[in-house]
Amino acid sequence: MMTRKRFPNNCFYLRWLRSALLWFMNQFVPPTAELLHSTGEAQTAMHERAAQVTRSRFGQNVFVRAVVEISNFCRENCLYCGMRRSNRGLNRFRAKQEQLADLLIHHRPQSVTDVNIQAGEDPVAVREVALPLIRTLRQHTDLGISVCLGILDHGLYAQLKEAGATLYIMKFEMGSAEHYAELHAPGTLEKRTEHIKHLAATGWNLSSGFIAGLPDQTEEELVGNFSLAADLPLDGISVSPFISGDETPLSSAPLSDINLTLNCMAVLRLMRPDWIIPSISALNLADPGNGYRRGLRTGANLVTINLTPSEIRGDYLLYKRDRFIMTEERILAAIAAEGLIPFSQSLADFYRAKKLNGKHVDQPGAIVETESCSESL
Ligand code: SF4
Repeated sequence: MMTRKRFPNNCFYLRWLRSALLWFMNQFVPPTAELLHSTGEAQTAMHERAAQVTRSRFGQNVFVRAVVEISNFCRENCLYCGMRRSNRGLNRFRAKQEQLADLLIHHRPQSVTDVNIQAGEDPVAVREVALPLIRTLRQHTDLGISVCLGILDHGLYAQLKEAGATLYIMKFEMGSAEHYAELHAPGTLEKRTEHIKHLAATGWNLSSGFIAGLPDQTEEELVGNFSLAADLPLDGISVSPFISGDETPLSSAPLSDINLTLNCMAVLRLMRPDWIIPSISALNLADPGNGYRRGLRTGANLVTINLTPSEIRGDYLLYKRDRFIMTEERILAAIAAEGLIPFSQSLADFYRAKKLNGKHVDQPGAIVETESCSESL
């Protein structure tokens, strides 16, 4: 009689085999340039698929965050931004933390669960406005707190975290180190990605992002943004259409095509069903009156209500003087028109729960037991 030869530790080998198969299935496959420039039926099908993936992961819920812009001082000099230090025509401001605290504690819209505190790269504003504001909010509200404050020293990151912020937004802007240097983006791409990794390694949740349709952006560079995003320890990402900003050296460059931005958003959603992807107000600059809602139809699951006091927000010159401000009324109308609802859970709680239940998978090569990039694309 033949006896069956058993592998020692059979279960171990089966588990290893299953893990290896899942790992191979989920290897990152960069999108093709053709995919990123899809039009017509192919584009519609991709956007619908991205929306479906979002709905199956998040239901009809959309996170609602407020943003307050606390300073338009910036020590950097990005060629694509009106707040660059060489723009001498800009009235520079630092907001009063007491005014913002009062606004956020007593007068914020009911739908808001999180706040993002944003500024040019201005360590003075971090110390004098952001830190006391975060401490006050932590004391008086249960708002989740995100910050978008640029590259800082490690000590300041630690103080922000200690004060109660949990999510850092640091866009890598573009995946080509050469183009990054040419456009005088902050520091170097290498330094920026090092800071992203440092923040993630020290317990922050991380969101990043890039600009689609920059002047002279090659197809290779565009595709490279996805490879870099896949390599970084991110929880969310945004795509900004290139807008030729007022009072910048690129002010006469052509506006990028919104379809490219939306296609990038759809691909990112298919790549990572678990990421938080915002519909950003610049979509309405690229496609007036329509862009924002198209973002919600293309896999976005986060909206942002601008609560910066009206007397200062005109000088927060990321793109145009004539800003398209996403007020509470506009945001809620856009969500309702798309059949979506404001999420009652904050982003901060969502991330916390993900970490607690062990589903936080953001390491390169990690097994993501969801639709894989290659399957979805
Ligand atoms: S993009 Fe950011 S870092 Fe660059 S100039 Fe504008 S505010 Fe400063």
